[in-house]
Amino acid sequence: MRILNNISLKNLNTFGLDVSAKYFVTVESEEDVLELLSSEIIRNEKWMVLGGGSNVLFRKDYNGLIIKNDIKGRTVEKNGGVKVGFSAGEDWDESVAFSVENNYWGIENLSWIPGKVGAAPIQNIGAYGVELKDVFHSVEFYNVENREKYTLGAEECQFGYRDSIFKNKLRGKIIITKVHLNLSEIPNPILEYNGIISAFESKKITEPTLTEIRNLIIEIRKSKLPDPYFLPNAGSFFKNPVIGQEQYIELLEEFPKIPAFVNDKNRYKIPAAWLIEQTGLKGFKKGKVGTHQNQPLVILNLGYKKGQRIIDFANYVTREVKNKFGIKLEKEVNIV
Ligand SMILES: Cc1cc2nc3c(=O)[nH]c(=O)nc-3n(C[C@H](O)[C@H](O)[C@H](O)COP(=O)(O)OP(=O)(O)OC[C@H]3O[C@@H](n4cnc5c(N)ncnc54)[C@H](O)[C@@H]3O)c2cc1C
Repeated sequence: MRILNNISLKNLNTFGLDVSAKYFVTVESEEDVLELLSSEIIRNEKWMVLGGGSNVLFRKDYNGLIIKNDIKGRTVEKNGGVKVGFSAGEDWDESVAFSVENNYWGIENLSWIPGKVGAAPIQNIGAYGVELKDVFHSVEFYNVENREKYTLGAEECQFGYRDSIFKNKLRGKIIITKVHLNLSEIPNPILEYNGIISAFESKKITEPTLTEIRNLIIEIRKSKLPDPYFLPNAGSFFKNPVIGQEQYIELLEEFPKIPAFVNDKNRYKIPAAWLIEQTGLKGFKKGKVGTHQNQPLVILNLGYKKGQRIIDFANYVTREVKNKFGIKLEKEVNIV
C-alpha cells in the first residue's frame, strides 16, 4: 500500500473535473484496508472512499486522502437460492453481466449503471422497477474509527428511495468491502416499468430471457442517457421529489398534467425531469454547464475544471423549480 501525493482525479470522476487529491491510496485487499486503518494518515487527514466516481461532484481540489477501492473477487453459495458476494471494487455492470451469464435472476434491470459494487448500497441504486434492496442480503464494512469489521443485513441498512444508513448515520465513517445479494435461478422477470413491455411487444418477444432483458435495458439506457465519456455527467443530478397528498391535490389544480406515482406509503413521487422541463430548463445552458436536451435531470459539465459552477447551476435549477411549484429538489449526487 503506497500513499501518493497530489494525484489528478480527472479520469476518476465522470464529471471529468480536473481536481487533485492531496493524498491518494489504492486498497486492493482487506489486508490493505487494515493496514490503512492502523496508519497515521487516516487519523490525521480527512478522507473519502472513491469507487467509479460516477456519483460525486468535486467542488474543488480534495485536501485530504482519497481511498480508491479496488478490492476484487466474488463468491457464490447455493442454498436453494443463490447468494453471490461481490467485493466492493468489482465493476457493477460486470457483476450484472456475470449474474446474467450464470443465469442468476435479480439484478438484470440494474444493467449498465456505472460505478463499483461498493457504492451500490450507499444510495440503494435503482432503475426500471428494481432497487438494490430487492435482492440485498448483507454488506461487510470496516468502521474507520474503531477499526472493527461489521456485517449489516437489509433491515439494518434502512434502505429508502436513493437512501440508506450509509448516507445518514454512517456517512463518511466506513469502508465497504463486500456486498452479498440473494439471486435466483428461477426466472422472475420484472417488466412492468414504462417502456419495457412495449419494447418487447414491438420485438414480438413474449417471454424474454435474462439476456434479452439485460440487452433491452442497455439499449434503452444508451438511447436515453448521455455517455459521460463524451458528455461528462453523473446521471440524475436530483432525486424525484416525494410529496404528501394535500400538496399534490393543490398542485393538480394549478397543473392538471402533473405526473405522479403513488408510492407504498401513499405519498406521491413527482418526476423531477418533468418539473425541470416545465420551468423551460430542458437543454438549457449557462456558461459551460447545462441540462441534457433529452433528459433534463442530467446536468452536463461542458468544460469546467472545478465543480463550483456546476453546483451554482444546480442551485439555479432548484430555485426555478421551487418558485414555480413550491417543491424543493434534493441532490442525488454527492457533493464533496
Ligand atoms: C450515466 C449515468 C447513469 C446513472 N444511472 C443510475 C441509475 O440508473 N440508478 C442509480 O441508482 N444511479 C445511477 N447513476 C449514479 C451512479 O452510477 C451510482 O450511484 C453508482 O452506484 C455510483 O458508484 P461509484 O462507484 O461510481 O460511486 P462513487 O461516485 O465513487 O461514490 C459515491 C459515494 O459512495 C461512497 N463510496 C463509494 N464506494 C464506497 C465504499 N466502498 N465504501 C464506502 N463508501 C463508498 C463515496 O464516498 C461517495 O460518497 C448513474 C450515473 C451515471 C454517470
